[in-house]
Amino acid sequence: MSDQVRYWAKEIETMPRAQLQDLQLRRFKELATRCYTKVRHYKQKFTDMKITPDDIKTLDDVKKFPITVKADLRDNYPFGLFAEPMENIVRIHASSGTTGKPTVVGYTKHDVDDVWTETMARSLVCAGVWRGDVVQNAYGYGLFTGGLGAHFGCERIGAAVIPMSGGNTERQIMLFQDFGSTVLTATPSFAAYLAEIIKQQKIDRKLIKLHTGVFGAEFWTEKMREKLETAFAEVNATGKFNAIDIYGLSEIEGPGVSNECIFKKGNHIWEDHFLAETIDPKTGEPTAPGEPGELVFSTITKEGIPLVRYTTKDITSLNYEKCDCGRTHVRHAKITGRSDDMMKIKGINVFPSQIEYVLMKIPGVAEHYEIIVERDILDKIKVRVELTPKTFSDSMAELENLKRTIEKELYTTLQINVAVELVAPNTIPRSIGKAKRVIDMRKEG
Ligand SMILES: [Zn+2]
Repeated sequence: MSDQVRYWAKEIETMPRAQLQDLQLRRFKELATRCYTKVRHYKQKFTDMKITPDDIKTLDDVKKFPITVKADLRDNYPFGLFAEPMENIVRIHASSGTTGKPTVVGYTKHDVDDVWTETMARSLVCAGVWRGDVVQNAYGYGLFTGGLGAHFGCERIGAAVIPMSGGNTERQIMLFQDFGSTVLTATPSFAAYLAEIIKQQKIDRKLIKLHTGVFGAEFWTEKMREKLETAFAEVNATGKFNAIDIYGLSEIEGPGVSNECIFKKGNHIWEDHFLAETIDPKTGEPTAPGEPGELVFSTITKEGIPLVRYTTKDITSLNYEKCDCGRTHVRHAKITGRSDDMMKIKGINVFPSQIEYVLMKIPGVAEHYEIIVERDILDKIKVRVELTPKTFSDSMAELENLKRTIEKELYTTLQINVAVELVAPNTIPRSIGKAKRVIDMRKEG
């Protein structure tokens, strides 16, 4: 079921790039016109920069337009960037900001039906989900876009969706068995926890039918993928499991902006709806395909809150080569972190994903870890690393060796000293939603 290439919208998904770019150019002009005529913020920005939608002749002209940042949404809280009156808005979502007011987005019926649900349906099919599948949706329902986004995508393709939402670990595991769930949609950290509990409870493998996980809403590494695939393959009926990356953010639409196919070599961005670029975080200049940069999207078909060149702050690179699955839509590499998640430790830039990358390749290390940053006189960084039960039973000398190995590997990758604390299985708090991996004590007090 999960190793067959299927398409939801084959003609669009495999469209020759020249044709796709023509479509993007036409739609970007429409977007710029919508923003210019309907959103005061953009009218002002375009006027300041002395540009109008008439200046768009080729896709290269996109670069002349201003970058939109999260602060623009906050400054126009709650509905200032909406391009449609409330009588045309059918849904409002919001994402919690770390400080103050949330970021608010509004959808017209077109945005929900023809953009979000459509790209979410494509994403699920791309991941190997199909009708007949029973999808246990453990993304949170509510103002957060994860739950409802996945939900309507499942219904669109004709899969049976269980609107389970996050948390409720025991009930999740009961439904895996009783409802025969074949697909899990969740954050990778919650998925890791669920796999661990299934194993602990020694549940009959024949009862666990899960063949695919569509995991997102937090960054995760290739090594984490291997761990998750092994963990579920060890407890399910077939001994095989695909962990597939889904990407999105509420400002653009929610989940389904891009998704990996079953070849797992980058996420296909649905380019007929989202025009993608990467830019240098410092200069704002475009970076070349293959070069890392901040991922930027223009929502070329959206009506409710159309955004021109919105920077996600997520760091990745773009690959325009045709994929083995036959899709022509550009792929982005796994997100390695957010430019604003970057920690500066003793003047050196450190991304949490670099630490995960090191930890996950060391045998005996569990999927659970915590990064603690403190300031004494200088910044200090400590990583609490949970061990698998088997490794934890090793002798003191072996554990001391393991600790030194991890410290050495971290130094090689980061070029700073990281203190490693090995902790017993089940010590690190489990995430039932988005994992909080970094505790930065410097920001408190
Ligand atoms: Zn592909």
